[in-house]
This record gives sequence, structure tokens and C-alpha cells, in this order.
Amino acid sequence: MKYAAPTTVDEARSLLADNPGSRVFAGATDLIPQMRSGQPEPSVMVDLKRIDQLMAISHDGGHWTIGAATPTSDLTRNAAFSGMFPGISEGAGLIGSDQIQNRSSLGGNLCNGSPAADSVPALIAAEARAVIASGDGSRTIAVADVVTGPGQTSLADGEFIVEFEIDDAPANTGDAYLRMIPRTEMDIAVVGAAVRITMDGDTVSDARVVLAAVAPTAVRVADAEAALVGSTLDDDTLAAVSAAASAACNPIDDKRGTIEYRTQVAGVLAKRAAVIAADRAQNGA
Ligand SMILES: Cc1cc2nc3c(=O)[nH]c(=O)nc-3n(C[C@H](O)[C@H](O)[C@H](O)COP(=O)(O)OP(=O)(O)OC[C@H]3O[C@@H](n4cnc5c(N)ncnc54)[C@H](O)[C@@H]3O)c2cc1C
Repeated sequence: MKYAAPTTVDEARSLLADNPGSRVFAGATDLIPQMRSGQPEPSVMVDLKRIDQLMAISHDGGHWTIGAATPTSDLTRNAAFSGMFPGISEGAGLIGSDQIQNRSSLGGNLCNGSPAADSVPALIAAEARAVIASGDGSRTIAVADVVTGPGQTSLADGEFIVEFEIDDAPANTGDAYLRMIPRTEMDIAVVGAAVRITMDGDTVSDARVVLAAVAPTAVRVADAEAALVGSTLDDDTLAAVSAAASAACNPIDDKRGTIEYRTQVAGVLAKRAAVIAADRAQNGA
């Protein structure tokens, strides 16, 4: 196995095109444990962290641009970003430990394809986009369309994510991410729930609800969103959000959570995240 550290997107493209079986990585906090547990080694490990564009966070023209290899700790420490998107920051800030977050990236968290990835639900709730280096150019798709199943993405051979684009949250908008883990930290979500809410006075004018770890990919819950919009988050609405979230679950049954447990907890977390997001929309993070 060889190691390469390109300094430009074009150099990375060429390395991938010229070396079948090569693979990009950022923090390698998923890739190295997977190789150690027996998954095949790439022919060339292409390190994305020497490419400035993939390591930058910027805000311009009404949207944020987050380099795909940027350490998640850079994101959570960015006060302006975390103030606008506390839910995305919460998800990124739950990944592993401080040491892991100094290496881990949004690109790796997404492209590893885990249904339990903590940063993904709030990115989907923000309708974030992934800018992908593709052939000689680029294409942009919704983050929601990147992962197609556990460990699977829609990226073709040789493609990689350069950066994420996230439009500024409208006024009176808040988001939140909650996860359930059996331990207090350093565990993978048994259920995750991200909610983003925009308020018009006391009424919800827009809502997005996304669950993690309850289906082969993160799932957006349209029925929960419909229940929220037009409501004042009264008890009946929250009960409807909870029921819709549970109904959207198609989870695995394993030692960390049964189907029944994950289904019930998804309802509870969606409801709680909605209350937090609405409070942030009205009162700030
Ligand atoms: C101790 C420990 C605790 C952890 N805890 C959590 C947790 O609580 N929550 C959680 O969600 N995850 C957790 N993880 C998993 C991991 O840290 C995260 O998924 C992390 O965000 C991966 O980022 P990375 O940059 O290290 O990915 P890498 O390992 O570098 O890459 C992961 C995958 O994505 C691909 N990839 C990377 N960057 C790109 C790109 N730009 N374009 C296309 N493909 C790309 C790689 O080829 C690889 O297949 C934990 C891992 C460890 C070791």
C-alpha cells in the first residue's frame, strides 16, 4: 500500500484516476480501524488533508462552505457557525472524543455510510449540499442523496467530496440533534434525531425531521414535518411527531438496541429535539 498527499483537487483526481483500487481519506478514524479488522487495503491511500480547499470553513454570499476534510473540532469551535447551526455542531461534537474530533471530518462521517453517523441528520435537516470532484469538473448533490445504504454511497469510482454548502438559516430558525447511546460517551448512536424548525411568532412555519440509526440510511420524516407546520407545538402535535417518527423506523435488532426499543426511542427523541429546536428558533441557541 502506498500513501499520497496531494495538495490540489486536480492532483487528487489524477492519483485516483491513475491508481485503480486507491481510496481517499481524511481523518482515517473509520478507515484504519476497518483495515485493521480485515477489510482490504487500498492500493494508494490518498490523504485529503493537505488540500487547503478541503480544510477551510468560510461564510460568504448567504451560505457556509465547509471543506470535506476539515476536522469536526474546527466546526464545533467556530462560534458563528455553531450559533447559526447548533444542531449540526451538536452532531459533530458527539463524534468519539476530542482526539477523534481533531481528525474526523464531515466527508468521512458521511461517506463511511454508517446509518448512525452523528453529523449527518442535522446536515440533511439543513438541506446541505455536497460538492463532488467528478471527472474533470464537479457536480453538486443533496447530502441526503449521498448515502444509498450501509457503507454504500452514490459516488462513482474516482469521485470525492470537496466541500459542503449550507445556506444560512432563515430568521427565527433553530435546530437540534439528540442521540441515545447505552453509555455516557464514546459509543455509536442507537437512535439519533435532528429537527430544524422555523417559527412565525408562536407558530411553526417550516420543519424538518431526520432520524439516524433506525433504517439503512438516515431518514427524513415527512409526516412529522407535516404535523409540526402550522402548529404551536401543543401536546397533540408533539404526540403526532412522536408517532410519525416511530412509524418511519425500520431498524436492525442487535445487542445495542432491539427493534421495539429503537422504534420507541426515535419517537421520544424526535419530540424532544423539536421542543429544543423551537426554543432556539425563538430565543437563540
Ligand atoms: C473511538 C471512535 C469513536 C467514534 N465515535 C463516533 C461517534 O460517536 N459518532 C460517529 O458518527 N462516528 C464515530 N466514529 C467514527 C468516525 O470517527 C467518524 O465517522 C468520522 O467522522 C470519520 O471521519 P474521517 O475523516 O476520520 O473518515 P475516514 O476514516 O478518513 O474516511 C471514512 C470513509 O469515508 C471516505 N471518505 C473520507 N473523506 C471523503 C471525501 N471527502 N469524499 C469521499 N469519500 C471520503 C473514506 O474513503 C472512507 O471510506 C468513531 C470512531 C472511533 C475510532
